[in-house]
Parts: sequence; structure tokens; C-alpha cells
Amino acid sequence: MAKRLFLSPPHMGGNERCYIDEVFESNYIAPLGAFVDRFEEAVCEFTGIKAAAATSSGTAAIHLALRLAGVEEGDRVLASTFTFIGSVAPILYQKAEPVFIDSDASWNADPKLVEEAIKKERPKAFVLTHLYGQSAKVDEISEICRRYGVVLIEDAAESLGATLQGRHTGTFGRFGIYSFNGNKIITTSGGGMLVGNDEGTIAHARKLATQAREPTPWYEHEELGYNYRMSNVLAAIGVAQMEVLPERIVKKRQIFNWYREVLSDLEVLEWMPEIPGSRGNRWLTTLTLRQGDPLELIAALEAENIEARPLWKPMHCQSLFAGARVYGGAVSEDLFARGLCLPSWTAMEHDDVERVASVIRRVLG
Ligand SMILES: *Cc1c(COP(=O)(O)O)cnc(C)c1O
Repeated sequence: MAKRLFLSPPHMGGNERCYIDEVFESNYIAPLGAFVDRFEEAVCEFTGIKAAAATSSGTAAIHLALRLAGVEEGDRVLASTFTFIGSVAPILYQKAEPVFIDSDASWNADPKLVEEAIKKERPKAFVLTHLYGQSAKVDEISEICRRYGVVLIEDAAESLGATLQGRHTGTFGRFGIYSFNGNKIITTSGGGMLVGNDEGTIAHARKLATQAREPTPWYEHEELGYNYRMSNVLAAIGVAQMEVLPERIVKKRQIFNWYREVLSDLEVLEWMPEIPGSRGNRWLTTLTLRQGDPLELIAALEAENIEARPLWKPMHCQSLFAGARVYGGAVSEDLFARGLCLPSWTAMEHDDVERVASVIRRVLG
């Protein structure tokens, strides 16, 4: 059997072990330590944001953002419907009501629907996803949110390093979040980061993420907190991964271009677009089929030991959110019905892409 091609497995850069050794030598295994600070600084420097708080996951970072946005029981929160559950589950943790926004031809949220929904729903916040590493129309959307006083939380879990007009995704809204889960463009095995330009607010996030302890010698608690901080061991991996992030982005984009070139004669394939002025990180190579069943193609790839997956199933189609309101819906439903993700591991070679392409050609050609 040919070697398995996974969608997006971890890809270590080289210095991870060395930094973990430093952690062991200092015995700052936990709770925090110098690598957590260094990791936060590296993300700030790379993205141009002022402040960052490393967390145990991207989902935890979104939960903290909602708390800091003042989202409470009964509040409405807009969210991209075409996303992963980690983006919207925290809305339910706050007992708030999610209202979903469909995509436009960019696959990301439609600004016209955002404005319509804001006028009708009077939401407190909007969790906007930058899907598959491609920037949403966040310049337009952040302007709409500002006009109506809605807190914008950018879910940039998949899009670390993606830019629009040269500005990093995750830095347009009041809050941005990144994920370092095992399948993301860089990983700490599991982890996340909450970012923002208001240092005081991010300092508050750090307090909430460490059980909201007051600055007294004894354990004094005035508000509800969480155990959401990242460990120093994982932050050491993160510091090493940040060193290779720029080359990972170049490679992800190259993999996408390889697929597109090798399969350029198959008119049945449509690739995820990149909006004008943006440079995505192409976290996963994603496409839709003009005809044919993506599940059949995924099964044919699996038979050759190649992992492929359908696109995210829209949140408004999930029974967990039965009865939730949605603005639009048909665009993301259609993308889900026709789309798939291909192996996009940053250590892949051109031969691997050709191997995947030959199966696609056999099934659809
Ligand atoms: C991965 C992901 C998350 C959650 O990140 P975790 O670190 O796994 O909690 C949230 N939103 C999107 C769009 C993601 O892809």
C-alpha cells in the first residue's frame, strides 16, 4: 500500500525539541513561563497586533472573546454558518442565541447579509470565520460592525498569516483568535491565541483564563474564570513553529498551485477563490465539483490511502442548532453538497500531488 497522505498533519520545524529541553532544564513545565511570553510576542510581531494571550485552544480563545465582549444569556450573536463547530459552540456556552450568516461567492460571509442581519437582530457581537485560510471581506465587514456598534470577533483559526490589503486576518476586529490544533498551518499539538489591540482587555483575558484570581496573597475571586491558559511546554513548540510559519505559507500556496496546474484541463473542478487584495495561507486546498458526487471521489481517494474530506457542513443545517435563524443559506448548502478538501501537508512533494490528481482524473476525467 502506498504511504498514507493525510489532509494536514503536524510538521515540525527543527527547534521544537531544543526549546522543550530548555523548558525541562528550567523546570518551568507548568503553569506558565518564559516561552508563553515569547510565543505571545512572536505572534504580535508577526501579525502587527499589540497584545496576545496564549490559550489551551482556539475554542477557549473565542469563549474568552465573547465574555469580554459582554455577551450574556439571551444576547444575539451573529456567526458565519459555513465554519467549524469550535467557532460557534462558545456562543452556546454563554447561553446566547446564534444567528447565522450565509456565504457569498467568496465562500466567506456575505457583507450584505451581515448588514441586513445587524439591522434586524441587534446582535452584540459577530464571530466571522476566515475559511480554509482565505481572508473574508473583513475590511467591509469591520466597517459595518463599527457603524452599528457590534463587536467583531475574527475566527482566524485556519488563516494565520493570511492578509487583506497587507493587513493580517485576526487584526481587524476588536478580537481575533488563532488555533494551534494539530491540523492547523502550525501546531503546538493543541492550543490557541486571543489577540487584540487593547492591552488592558487582553490582560483581563489572561486573568479570566487562569481562574480569575484577584491579586491578593490568598485565593480571592470576584468574577467567574476558566482554566484556559497554555502550558509553557506547548508554548516552546509554538515559538519554534513561528520560526517556520513564513515558509509553511509559501508551501501551502505552492501545493494549491500544483493541484490547479496538474488538473487545469478538468473543467469540472472549481477552486476556492481568493478575494482581490488578499493573500491567503491556503491552509487546505479546497474545491467544488460542477458535476459528480464528492463522497464518491473521497471514497476512491480513500481506497488509494489518501485522506480527503467534505467541506464543513453549515451550522444552520446541524440539528444542534435546529430552529436558529439564518440569513441566506443556499450558498453554503451548495458548497457543502459539491465540495471537498485535498491533502495539503506542507511536507508534500509534487509527486504526491500527482498521485492524488491521478485518482481525481480517473474518477472525473
Ligand atoms: C480549528 C478551528 C477552531 C477551533 O480551534 P481549536 O484550537 O481546535 O479549539 C475554530 N474555528 C475554526 C474555523 C477552526 O478551523
